[in-house]
Amino acid sequence: MGCVHSTNQNQAELKLKRKDASHSKMLSAKLVLLGDAGVGKSSICQRYIQNTMNSAYEVTIGGAYLQKEITTSNGQLLKLHIWDTGGEERYRAMAPLYYRDSQAALLVYDVTDPRSLQSLDYWIGELDEKVRDDNMIVIIAGNKCDLPNRKVSSEEARKFAASHSVESFEVSAKTGDGLIELFRYISDQLVLNLPKMPQKGQS
Ligand code: GDP
Ligand code: MG
Repeated sequence: MGCVHSTNQNQAELKLKRKDASHSKMLSAKLVLLGDAGVGKSSICQRYIQNTMNSAYEVTIGGAYLQKEITTSNGQLLKLHIWDTGGEERYRAMAPLYYRDSQAALLVYDVTDPRSLQSLDYWIGELDEKVRDDNMIVIIAGNKCDLPNRKVSSEEARKFAASHSVESFEVSAKTGDGLIELFRYISDQLVLNLPKMPQKGQS
């Protein structure tokens, strides 16, 4: 049990970047969280940004905006603009408003709910169709790995992620497990890839 993650991040490439990193300029990027209602998207944001957790479930209507400044592995300051979306079917039509301008998408499922992992097929397909040319960074996170009744094994998640050529992490918004690693990975990837991405109205 617990949280594990798999990354095949190119460490050599990161080291090279570290050497010529510009420490003076703050970069900024947009990240969107997508996934079924109830998987813990808002809790992940709350735990990561405020280090708190609300055990009562409050549905996110449309989307909520948060921001966080992060120092990446190569010492680069990055301002992350985070859009936490409502995962219910009726909000799906609004999702393009949030992901269209994003450089990274965090697709969240619940490790106790295999259907929530299958739902990520929908989001991967949607992103592939609508923003395929934008080199968007897509990451999968299995949340609630503190719970004993896990139904999606780490192996299954790894296979799912590999079949879509994306990285997968396991986290717990309740304990905070895996979140630093997850957001560090996202930020490092963003800093590596931002120069190759279309600039989409960042602030
Ligand atoms: P969202 O609809 O994806 O934003 O999901 P929420 O963040 O609102 O969380 C839905 C429910 O799951 C809430 O009752 C949370 O307290 C609970 N929850 C979220 N993350 C975790 C977690 O890591 N572990 C456990 N045990 N419960 C969680
Ligand atoms: Mg929410």
